[in-house]
Amino acid sequence: MLDNCRLCGSDDLILWMRDGHNSDLDYYKCSNCTLWNYDLDCGVDQTQYTEIYVSPEDTEHHVNISIRESWDFIRRHTDEPGSIMDIGCGSAGLLYLARKDGWQVRGMELSEKASKEIFEDQGIDVIVANFLEYDNPDNNPYDVVVLRHVLEHLPDSILAMTKIGSLIKDNGLALLEFPNTRSLSYVVKRALKNRGLRNKKYSTEWRPGHCNEFCRESFEYLLKQTGFELVVWHTYSSKPLASALYRVIPIASKARALIRKKPTTV
Ligand SMILES: [Zn+2]
Repeated sequence: MLDNCRLCGSDDLILWMRDGHNSDLDYYKCSNCTLWNYDLDCGVDQTQYTEIYVSPEDTEHHVNISIRESWDFIRRHTDEPGSIMDIGCGSAGLLYLARKDGWQVRGMELSEKASKEIFEDQGIDVIVANFLEYDNPDNNPYDVVVLRHVLEHLPDSILAMTKIGSLIKDNGLALLEFPNTRSLSYVVKRALKNRGLRNKKYSTEWRPGHCNEFCRESFEYLLKQTGFELVVWHTYSSKPLASALYRVIPIASKARALIRKKPTTV
């Protein structure tokens, strides 16, 4: 049982979705900020996301197709090349594209193996660190920081955004991508799971990796608390035709947000 929302602290929580084989993994929706809080006492598992190296030269690979969309989005919203940090950079596909376009690039990964593979294959510098514990040693903030499909895995979203803020110049940008709870697929998922209709496909040992699930409203709440403003919000799907529709109606399963760090001194 969860007592307070991890984002706003409110105790006005509604048992919102029951997940897992035995429908005993609970998500609570906050009535105040709308965040979906997974009850961490039910257990989490982040090991299911370990990645294998995908060369950025493999342009047909689905990982690289989605990375190209993210990079095109950043390019559309930046005037000229600057410096970019990709936190949880995977195989550094996004940094590979950024460097081609004249950007100074650097990544961060938890895994030393990933960092080595990237350096050997592409010569891109990837810091091995957990960004929640990382202090920018050269005090050399970036123009753009990227965090794709990481935020939802972190219990403390405020700490995550504060850390991102410490890596960005004043008025610098961050691109974040994460699932969108206010999407058609989440509405369907919740309806099925609460009726126990999708839960048996999981093993009894399965535990989610997502701790906090956002929609635009809860994400904007987070930004307000941490000194950012929303510049662009859109939702997207991996299916091109659906994506075109979702540009008009923002109910796709994934959200892409461009945010700006407000200056610390006025
Ligand atoms: Zn809340």
